[in-house]
Amino acid sequence: MTAMETIPNLLAQRAYLTPNRVAFIFEDQEVTFLELYEQAQIVAEQLTTLGVKKEDHVGVLLRNHIDMVFILFGIQLLGSIAVFLNNRLTTSEIEWQIKDSNTILLVTEEKYEPIFSGLTGPIMLKHELFKQKRTAIIVPEEISLNSICSIMYTSGTTGTPKGVLQTYGNHWWSATGAALNLGIYDTDRWICAVPLFHISGFSILMRSIIYGMTVILHEGFDEEKVLKEIIHNRASIISVVSTMLIRLLDKMNAPLPSTFRCALAGGGPLSKHLLEECVKKNVPVYQTYGMTETASQVVTLSPEDSLAKLGSAGKPLFPVQLKIKNGQDTEAKPLESGEIFIKGPNVTIGYLNRPSVTNEKIQSGWLSTGDIGYLDKDGFLFVQDRRSDLIISGGENIYPAEIEGILQSHEQVLEAGVIGIEDLEWGQVPVAIVVKKAGTSLTREQLIDFSLGKLAKYKVPKKIVFIDELPRNAAKKLVRHKLKSWWKETQTLG
Ligand code: ATP
Ligand code: MG
Repeated sequence: MTAMETIPNLLAQRAYLTPNRVAFIFEDQEVTFLELYEQAQIVAEQLTTLGVKKEDHVGVLLRNHIDMVFILFGIQLLGSIAVFLNNRLTTSEIEWQIKDSNTILLVTEEKYEPIFSGLTGPIMLKHELFKQKRTAIIVPEEISLNSICSIMYTSGTTGTPKGVLQTYGNHWWSATGAALNLGIYDTDRWICAVPLFHISGFSILMRSIIYGMTVILHEGFDEEKVLKEIIHNRASIISVVSTMLIRLLDKMNAPLPSTFRCALAGGGPLSKHLLEECVKKNVPVYQTYGMTETASQVVTLSPEDSLAKLGSAGKPLFPVQLKIKNGQDTEAKPLESGEIFIKGPNVTIGYLNRPSVTNEKIQSGWLSTGDIGYLDKDGFLFVQDRRSDLIISGGENIYPAEIEGILQSHEQVLEAGVIGIEDLEWGQVPVAIVVKKAGTSLTREQLIDFSLGKLAKYKVPKKIVFIDELPRNAAKKLVRHKLKSWWKETQTLG
């Protein structure tokens, strides 16, 4: 390993630099960096007793808890690789990911018995793991930035989830890029109420040891608890997705204290309506764009730009390059839409066991994201939609997310999904599948009238169907291809 490729063992270095600083707050427990290091070392030694070795794949099916933090860092100290399993998946989906990733041991907990009881292969409950004897290990002093730290599956919004190989270098550069943008304050306390098995959560964990920052860990998202942390416990940053932000704004009845400096909002688009609400209520929201393949955010919009650039995901983080391509070798001009490509040291080296997908998606270091967007004249990125969901109607591009945003701004609409269906005259036309809020009397005609004032005519859904629930994946993202199959089966027949 050359000096350029190596870095001190992250957790050991942090415990050495600031041993007594609080690393994690979970419920009423505070853990310093030194205690975190010691606890992680114990787990590493217990895993060793169970036969786990360097580079082995260890599955983790756990809920957000301080124990999960100890286990994840224990896996790192051992040089083994954590395979993150989404605890909202079904048994067969988990079984598939365990097999696909060559996981040799699954660490889980009783809560997930309904999932793991049907699994084959070695399973260790966390409380049993914590009872194991310890087999002494020597913690490596340094790590290679090129070695794999984690395997995380994509959400499976556009197809089967793919295992993304995330190196220590990916996490290091992701944390560094975020710090160059947001800064690191010694008063920072970052609330992690997003799942640790998702990159939005795990990246907070990595930032904690890289920055020496306190993380307030929550088991799940509870807006009242979050507000308490912000108002009474000086929490300064929180990572959120759109639905969390909506719930937070709803519960707010006074301005937030000035110690709160950032709501980092990503994972999917935020509606203009929601961004306007944030501006109105003085909530410093940073819109971000990123994905499992980029080890978290890569493009971010600061609050000072959020009004002027409403709806933009912002500009790339310093180590990241971004371009929009609208042909094999052609770059789009400003305001022209095309596929978003990303290059940077935080971009994955590839997908596990999928060399052909890796070669297709990553060329000369540029990741083809599968997302469509454009840059405005000032270089701000606007993400429009997934390439696979684009609707082309009479030669015009239609982005379902835009229509969904408008439909969802109707006060009687809970959620909406838009897809393109075949049409003899136009090629494709948009149709909407809508979930009404309980007890409301909204009609199709009313919703079409509402859209007519807000959308160009060719974007107004040609048909609206009401339904009880939209198909979402374990990351709660709308799975439009399932909606398309549902439409084909139920709507075109008869
Ligand atoms: P799969 O790759 O399996 O289809 P996925 O892409 O949903 O699943 P993730 O890596 O969890 O899996 O999600 C990243 C995707 O989320 C991005 O590629 C993009 O489509 C969407 N996304 C993230 N941030 C934003 C944003 N600010 N605006 C719009 N879309 C976003
Ligand atoms: Mg994806």
